[in-house]
Amino acid sequence: MGRGDDDDDQEEDMEQVLFQGPMFGRETNLKENPRLVKAALVPVKKMISDGLSRRAHTILLEPAQGRVTIRFVVDGIPYPAGAIPGQRGMAMIQMIKVLAGLNPQERNETQSGGINAEFEEVRYELLTETVLLKPGVERLKIRVENPKITYLKPADAGMPEEVMRQIRGYTEDSKGLILVCGPPDSGITSLSICAIHCVDPYLYSVFSLADTGGKPLTNVSDYEQEEGHDLEFSFDRILRREADAIFMDPLTDPAVVQTMCQFADRMCFIAEIPAKTPTEAVQQLIQWVGTDLVTQHLKAVITQKLIRTLCDDCKQAFRPNPQLLKRLNLPPETTILYRAPSPPDPEDEDAPSIEELCEDCDGVPFHGRTAAYEILEMTDGMKEVVVNGLDPQAVKEQMASDGMRTLQKDAVRLVVEGKTALEEVQRTFAPSKGRRPKARPRPRPDE
Ligand SMILES: [Zn+2]
Repeated sequence: MGRGDDDDDQEEDMEQVLFQGPMFGRETNLKENPRLVKAALVPVKKMISDGLSRRAHTILLEPAQGRVTIRFVVDGIPYPAGAIPGQRGMAMIQMIKVLAGLNPQERNETQSGGINAEFEEVRYELLTETVLLKPGVERLKIRVENPKITYLKPADAGMPEEVMRQIRGYTEDSKGLILVCGPPDSGITSLSICAIHCVDPYLYSVFSLADTGGKPLTNVSDYEQEEGHDLEFSFDRILRREADAIFMDPLTDPAVVQTMCQFADRMCFIAEIPAKTPTEAVQQLIQWVGTDLVTQHLKAVITQKLIRTLCDDCKQAFRPNPQLLKRLNLPPETTILYRAPSPPDPEDEDAPSIEELCEDCDGVPFHGRTAAYEILEMTDGMKEVVVNGLDPQAVKEQMASDGMRTLQKDAVRLVVEGKTALEEVQRTFAPSKGRRPKARPRPRPDE
């Protein structure tokens, strides 16, 4: 693999992505598919290079009306990136499948794999997944991962010192469960890794039983579960090595959670739980182990929401009026907030185009994302809410009366810190917006 990759693109000025073979131990042989390679390798390289240079974290190829539409998702917002006529577009999908070591002929079943790639001296993992739309018609999704970015330290990921201290606090008695949850694509794996990295490595010994794909966590010892040994045995062994905190794979098996509860008065566990909100996470946990164990061992559930950050080069400061400050519950002495610059006047022929407004963000005017955090803490009041059946409204009220950090409240912090705009926070929290446009993609990014 890899040979023949660079034959046809000398005419390209832009640096092109290098494909370095499929992930997950799969194999590929480009020689077996000479026609496909001839027709589609160059356009695939060009498209992926284009996507990576535009910081796409997801690339979508979707057949519709005899064409294949391409979309780049940047900072959570999908942007149209062209449409390829039917046959050529389909060939590109097949080519990507071959590069990921998937079966190009198989179009009736979902397949997933990945491609190791390098672009502008950065290594990427292109996690490739086909989604069946109807028999014989599939959509292709490429999730771009930069193996380094997954392991950002809490501070580098933008986690405020206060949140880190709070999470660290939960681990200080080396007991209990700390869970991380959130909807898909909300950076929850990174959040759970940040959470384990909040444990003080100089005072506590931290182990990982999670499969991190061979990528080491900082100051965390890997524990390889020996074959034939059950989880209880492993926990016993780790306990004998004086473990304080354990990082687990995402929880899906009630039996695993029950075993964790047996040890949760001697060790602290940090794990992801498949739930969109902290309340749903607690509900799930109750289903698995019952109310008693939840109130006994659960310490907190953490979630986050990613919010686009304003481009530092073109954001505009403004003086908020007192009504706005009051509405946002901000201190009246707040003198400066930031917002996106106004878009160019379409009537004015001499006005610069959107892209010309700012070189740094191409006039988007956002660059990257940061997180707002929410921590549902098992205070005495919250335990009562759990015992009384976990009514979502009661959870909300309890969080408010205990002064817990909520997504909305924490998003306002980001506005006050000048990291994002109020309008962006409103857009992110609006129920229907901020998602992929359902019908036709907008002609151009307009946000
Ligand atoms: Zn800008």
